[in-house]
Amino acid sequence: MNIYLEQLQKDFGDWGKVLSVGTLFTQDPSPFKRLIDMGFSKENSRMIFSVCPDDVNRLHERDTIENKIREMFGEEFHLGNLAAYPIGGITGISAASHHSPDYVEGECKRSGNLIFFISPHLGLDLENELLYGYIQRPGQDKLTTACGAMMGFLRSIRHAHTVNDLYNFKVDPNDPTKALLFKDLIDNYKEEIIDNLHGQDINLTIIKLAKINYDLVMTTFKTMMKAFLEKGDFKCEFAIIGGITVNTQQEDLFIFRDYFLNST
Ligand SMILES: [Zn+2]
Repeated sequence: MNIYLEQLQKDFGDWGKVLSVGTLFTQDPSPFKRLIDMGFSKENSRMIFSVCPDDVNRLHERDTIENKIREMFGEEFHLGNLAAYPIGGITGISAASHHSPDYVEGECKRSGNLIFFISPHLGLDLENELLYGYIQRPGQDKLTTACGAMMGFLRSIRHAHTVNDLYNFKVDPNDPTKALLFKDLIDNYKEEIIDNLHGQDINLTIIKLAKINYDLVMTTFKTMMKAFLEKGDFKCEFAIIGGITVNTQQEDLFIFRDYFLNST
């Protein structure tokens, strides 16, 4: 048994089902397996990622979820930026909707499918002691943060005692994604942040923050997607897969949370 998988299943419980890179397309209830069974493929689909640009998610020295998805379903359009925030918005979704290869079945030909992969990431180190939010990257001895943007947010709010204190972080116009990400986190999750993120257990705190990160990214994406669909121009098949990508020293795991087909 993979000790990382065991640890994640214990710590995340009913929140999501943990899948390894090796079982990503084969193990029930993998949403990717469902798509393959329904005929979604590299030849008739375009992947759209809302993921963090952190290189750890696609380094070839590691077995990563993103690289595995790319092997199966082809290259991707990017909607996301720091902490997987879907900053590309409706314009990005609309552009990507024109990029899927045609779906050809016998004589019949129509526009292809879209597969949205919505996944912030989270480091986990078990080599020394249990520690979420950090990873030892290839070629380095030290541990670094993952997701760095979310761990930076945690540092920023560490000294806040009231809701008003949360708004005191400095917004740098040269840091547009961070400004939007931090503002959305505080506007939408201030109670949880104050109530939950000051616990003594650093691992529990970081797990709660990762769940908030996921909820913000998925909720924001779904709002954008609804607005895009309301325009009424898009008639093709689409699937949305959501969860947290967990980066460990050798490989990634995926905590699968949400799956939607032709709906949000
Ligand atoms: Zn990140």
